[in-house]
Amino acid sequence: MSELRDLYQQVIIDHSKRPRNFGPLESANKNANGHNPLCGDKISVHVLTDGDKVKDIRFEGSGCAISTASASMMTEFVKGKSIGEVEKIFKNFHALVTAESGVDEETLGKLAVFSGVCEFPMRVKCATLAWHTLHGALEGGPEAVVSTE
Ligand code: ZN
Repeated sequence: MSELRDLYQQVIIDHSKRPRNFGPLESANKNANGHNPLCGDKISVHVLTDGDKVKDIRFEGSGCAISTASASMMTEFVKGKSIGEVEKIFKNFHALVTAESGVDEETLGKLAVFSGVCEFPMRVKCATLAWHTLHGALEGGPEAVVSTE
């Protein structure tokens, strides 16, 4: 188990140091700004939807390693998925990091690396900030503002 945990940590560190899909997205039709005052994480999520599909997604901002890695992995994971699938993944991801029962791990794939976060309640908001922000963008339209508080 500790080897698995080391592997998980390496994945998170890699994504926090070299975030994927980082930067502006000029073609975006949905945007949201998320803020986690508890830690100081700030993330902007830019989404281009086509019908009910997430056609492209990028993010900007600054935050701790967990929030950056979570945003980076989220953008990789949801690209090409339908909005319905994204909401389902968000629900399962939230359940995973808060150690709720009934997590459907099959929907999460690589995102399972965040399972250790449930041992650190202070970090849950860091791990979920990008997801709350994406949710806000999908629901809120062109400019949504999301706070974890
Ligand atoms: Zn944080």
